[in-house]
Amino acid sequence: MNSLQTIKKQYDESIMHNFSRMEAAIVRGSGSTCYDSEGKSYIDFGAGIGVCSLGHAHPEWLKAVTEQAGILSHISNLYYTLPPVELAELLCAHTSMDRVIYTNSGAESNEAAIKIARKRSFDKYGPGRHNIITLRDSFHGRTITTLSATGQEEFHNYFFPFTEGFRYAPANDVEALEGMIDDTVCGVMIETIQGEGGVKPLDAGFIMAVESLCAEHDLAFMVDEVQTGIGRTGKLLSFEHFGVQPDIVSLAKGLGNGLPIGAVLTRGEYSEVLHPGDHGSTFAGNPTICAGGCVVIRTLTAPGTLERITEKGNEIMAKLRAHPAIREVRGLGLMIGADLVKNNVGEVVKKCLERGLLILSAHAALRLLPPLTTTDAEFDQGLSVLFSVLDEEAGL
Ligand SMILES: *Cc1c(COP(=O)(O)O)cnc(C)c1O
Repeated sequence: MNSLQTIKKQYDESIMHNFSRMEAAIVRGSGSTCYDSEGKSYIDFGAGIGVCSLGHAHPEWLKAVTEQAGILSHISNLYYTLPPVELAELLCAHTSMDRVIYTNSGAESNEAAIKIARKRSFDKYGPGRHNIITLRDSFHGRTITTLSATGQEEFHNYFFPFTEGFRYAPANDVEALEGMIDDTVCGVMIETIQGEGGVKPLDAGFIMAVESLCAEHDLAFMVDEVQTGIGRTGKLLSFEHFGVQPDIVSLAKGLGNGLPIGAVLTRGEYSEVLHPGDHGSTFAGNPTICAGGCVVIRTLTAPGTLERITEKGNEIMAKLRAHPAIREVRGLGLMIGADLVKNNVGEVVKKCLERGLLILSAHAALRLLPPLTTTDAEFDQGLSVLFSVLDEEAGL
């Protein structure tokens, strides 16, 4: 096995320098435990970035994926096959949505969502009604269009010209949002909790107001559930917490348990917008990944699973809230953000790594996105590392 130093040198020479990585080469994982190139073990409270919803090497997921890879790994969207339709049926059966189109990532899901919103408006109203309102501090992806959709100035650089047609409303300000709606707008896209923006939940009242403004002006109500979806918040889709009904929902991260897949779910008229030739992707709906996705949905919708996510999340948030090194805790289910009194999230993440815990940050917030199947023992072990670091931060 190569050592960390050797692996770093290999990266330095042959991989683009577009990430600053942590000081560990993770080579193996099982459940919520990972191992590095030096044989050290870690509890994983990041699950990639909220991706490995069932943890690493989940036995049923592994069996489904390896079996399907041996039966038919890929055939393209030019033919019918079984796993993508099985997964679509599961997604529709367990949500209020009607139909599915597959993609390969979160950004691609939002691209497809934007195309569906714009084309539906074009078909019904003709050209000119193309603007989509997103929120400040949102994150919708890294393609040129989804960077445009992202309401953070730091993402609107270098890659000019960006796609036109996005307006950024301040989160939780119904009046400001209403003021931006005119006859050039076709949709509003929100995250119920702004994950990359710093784990910032929207107010329930604001989410409900977005729904009613969309209904009033015949706009697409779009929810980017790339991070909040697939059980992460204790509901299969996070909008269910608020009793609202979006027209278009984007998914990715947790859906494939580590293999790349995205999906857009639609309802009503929005399910009838795309026709042959309008949109597609070579890899989308890949049978191998969809076979694994079926295990993800079946596992998370098994009795008691979503409830446990809520319970565990509440338990962890209560413990964090009670700690003197923590200023504020936000989140829902196992999507948790915490602002630190010392505002030194980078250092805390690094100390956790040294002591055997993989944990994330989002802007200044410490961020927990553990696998949704993390056992009580794994939670206890990870939290004991985290609290040893936080105790030190608080001078305890
Ligand atoms: C991660 C994320 C994306 C982008 O997903 P990629 O798979 O990296 O393209 C989009 N929206 C939200 C809310 C995300 O958290």
